[in-house]
Amino acid sequence: MTIAVLAVQGAFLEQEQTLDMLGVNYFEIRQRPDLSRPFDGLILPGGESTVQGKLLRELGLFDILKEKIEDGLPVLATCAGMILLAGALADDSTVHFGTMPIRVRRNAYGRQLGSFHTTANMAGIGPVPMTFIRAPYVESVDDGVDVLARVDNRIVAVRYGRQIALSFHPELDRKESTAIHETFLRMLVER
Ligand code: GLN
Repeated sequence: MTIAVLAVQGAFLEQEQTLDMLGVNYFEIRQRPDLSRPFDGLILPGGESTVQGKLLRELGLFDILKEKIEDGLPVLATCAGMILLAGALADDSTVHFGTMPIRVRRNAYGRQLGSFHTTANMAGIGPVPMTFIRAPYVESVDDGVDVLARVDNRIVAVRYGRQIALSFHPELDRKESTAIHETFLRMLVER
């Protein structure tokens, strides 16, 4: 099993360190030739979605990845990655991959709560640590989307088919818990 980690911008190293802890094989996607290597799952890291979206297009990665996701490639998307998957953004006409029928609000927690840490229940897992950094949340979901976690009544984790999207950063809490990554990897094995 091999995971591809999008490594054009953002917190991809922490994702790789999490995969190292779990002994999983992975490589980075930085340029188009990287996409000719076979992989079983994709990680979209946190960072800045506007920059990531621009680089994905400029580097010629966008169309191929979108097609693979539409064809059922398993994806674990954190924070900016959730924004890339969203079918619609609040107050913003931008759509990137748009492969998940969810409406997402960027920087949704405002300035004061820009970053915070909490523990909340994740469906199928139980309590997990959650670190939010200028995080988005999901304002609404369409049919077929499972809500996996809520914090203060706001949706912060969802699953749609083989795509999992999180408002928070489990890779930053990897020393406390790798449960979310393990769940993702299990989904790949079951594929
Ligand atoms: N605020 C960022 C964005 O809008 C996401 C933040 C993150 O990935 N930690 O893309």
